[in-house]
Order: sequence, then structure tokens, then C-alpha cells
Amino acid sequence: MAIQHTQNPILCLIDDNPEDRANIRRYLLQDTNYHYHILEAETGEMGIELCRRMRPDCILLDYNLPDMNGLEVLTPLADVDGNMPYPVIVLTDQGNETIAQQTMQRGAQDYLVKSEMTAGNLLRAIHNAIERTTMRRIMEQQHHNLEQKNQEIQAFAYALAHDLRAPLRAIGGFAQIVEQDYKDQLDDNGRRYIERIVQSSLQMDRLIDELLSYTRIEHRTLRRKPVNLAYVVQQVLEQLAERVAKTSASITVAKDLPTIYSDQTLIQQIILNLVSNALVYHKPDLAPQVEIRCTLQSQECLLAITDKGIGIAPKYQERIFQVFQRLHNEDEYPGTGIGLAIVKKAVDIMGGRVWIESVIGKGSTFYVKLPCAIQAE
Ligand code: ADP
Repeated sequence: MAIQHTQNPILCLIDDNPEDRANIRRYLLQDTNYHYHILEAETGEMGIELCRRMRPDCILLDYNLPDMNGLEVLTPLADVDGNMPYPVIVLTDQGNETIAQQTMQRGAQDYLVKSEMTAGNLLRAIHNAIERTTMRRIMEQQHHNLEQKNQEIQAFAYALAHDLRAPLRAIGGFAQIVEQDYKDQLDDNGRRYIERIVQSSLQMDRLIDELLSYTRIEHRTLRRKPVNLAYVVQQVLEQLAERVAKTSASITVAKDLPTIYSDQTLIQQIILNLVSNALVYHKPDLAPQVEIRCTLQSQECLLAITDKGIGIAPKYQERIFQVFQRLHNEDEYPGTGIGLAIVKKAVDIMGGRVWIESVIGKGSTFYVKLPCAIQAE
């Protein structure tokens, strides 16, 4: 969409009175800022057709036309959202000011009483209108450019992450072969280096996986349907069964988890990431203890996932929801720093809120509040 800069603005004059039109043309000639390209229509129908075809920078609309009034002209000119895409100045007769106000509620920008019209007040109103259109078009253009850039960046990030995977898997795979088949030919240092290569490539593979999930979620639109939370939690626990067993974790799930009207994939991702973290960030001498609850409050549900893990200091409690914000290094606790950013993004898409209450050394509760119309069972 090219921005039309308006040294020769297109002005559509919709008025059935030839004398009034001649008068206005004379005023317009006195303008030293602009040289107008004037389109004229004698009826509302012709005017609507002309505006749709020529997209004028300003419309001068006589309220009383032979076939319709100003309000009836404005209605079909509005866009699908009911907004007026053109700046319209309504011309009324003396005593019609109330009607003129109504046209402004329908999107007209200004009105002038014909008998009080002078070159000065007409040109001032037109200049305002043109300035407004130019500003709006610049803003639309900037918004459009920004959206396009955003999409390009996201597509680039997605392609990059995707294409990095194949060579990375080759590096990791060959390193594993060397580790297994040539270990006798390597000295201690060689074996340590190879092990580091294998570990680092696995870590990078996890990172790419999560970056892809994060990018995918950014493009996602909401898909709401009845979601049985008890079923979703069961799915998550099946996914994490190996880790639950390995860490001897105890997981308590509330018996009364409700069915809510929401997006199942996003909710499952949220619960998966929060429970996974609870399994990771436990105290070294205490197996993870996790509790999953959900309460309904009017049209909202409050999901709470509590652990008795290492806790998070207050000063980090907001920062952890940003991408790549980790409080530990890979050797202490493995991770990528993307899990909670995915949770936050999913919650934002659903119009909800996520926050944490935590005490260092005692544990944390992650709360997720979501709007959800409750379905009758
Ligand atoms: P990752 O776990 O991959 O590092 P996350 O985005 O899931 O990334 O978490 C960010 C950081 O928040 C973690 O590195 C950790 O320091 C902290 N964190 C997350 N969950 C918990 C938890 N349940 N208990 C304590 N710290 C946590």
C-alpha cells in the first residue's frame, strides 16, 4: 500500500445544488497549500460510487440530497468494522446542527453550516481532514510494515532452528559413535571431550525443540472447546512418567478438576512445562512433591501447581517468564530457559495471567488464571 502524499488531494463534492458547488469550487481555488483534484456528484448514490472508486482524501457531503440524506450516504461508506475510512465534512442548512451531530457520531469528521461557510473555515476544515487522512495512512503503512517484518523474522527464526537440526544431529550422532566404538583408542582427555560434545549437542537439540515450540505458539490462534482438566493432567503425567519414576516424585492431583471451555493444546503445554520444572527444581535431598489443583471463580478458573522445591527469590519472580532467563547453570540444573516463556505466551493468548508465589528453600506455587466459560457436564 503506497502512501499518497497529498499535494494534489482528491476531494469529492457531493451536492445537488450547482450554485453551492460553484461557490465551493471558488473557495477551493483560493487555497495556497493545495491544488485540488475535484470530483463532483449530484446524488448520494453517485457520490457513494465515486468515493468507492476514487478513494478521495476528503469528502464534502451536503446533508440534504435528492435521493438520500447524509446519514444514509455515510452508512455504506463505513468499513466492515463500522469505521469511516474517509474524512467527511457534512454541509448542513441553518438549524440542522443536531442532525449534523448525529453524522459525526456515524464517523463524519466535521460539519459546516452552509450559510456561515467562508473560504477560511472551509479550507481549515479541509486541511484538518487531509492531515488526519495522511496521518492515518502513514500509521496504517507503519503497522503493515511492522507486521510484515515480524512475520519475516518469525519465519526466519523457524527456518533457522529447523535447518540447524540436521547438521546438529549428525554431530551428536557421530560423536556418540566415536564414544562407543573408539573409546579404547582414546585417552581420558579424549573421552571427556567426546562426552562434552555429546552432552552439548543434546542440550542444543533441546534448545532448538523449545525454540520451535515457542515460535509455533506465537502463530497460534485460540481454539476453544470443552477441556476436561483431569484428562489433560493424566496425559501430562503419562508424558512425564519416566521422569516421575526416576526422581521418585510424588504427585497429588485434586479429585475435583473441572471441565472448562478453553484451548486444550495450550493448557496441556502449560501444565506440562510447570510440572516438568517442579520435577527438576527439587532440593537435592528431597524427592519432588507436586500438587495440582484448580478452582472455578465465576467465569474464570485458577490453576495452581505447587512444589516443595528450591523456591525462587522475589527479585527473580518476574524475570523467569522471559526467554533465556535461567537462575542456574546447566551443571546444577539442566534447562533451556524457554519453558516459562512458553507458559507466559500461552496464557497471554488465552487472555489470562500467570504469576508465582515462592519462598526460597520452601517451594513455589505457579498460578494460572484463565477466562473460561464453564460448561455444564
Ligand atoms: P528452564 O527450566 O529450561 O531453565 P524455564 O523458563 O522453565 O527454563 O525456567 C526459568 C528459570 O526459572 C529456571 O532456570 C529456574 O531457575 C526457575 N524455575 C522455574 N521453575 C521453577 C521451580 N518450580 N522452582 C524453582 N525454580 C524454578
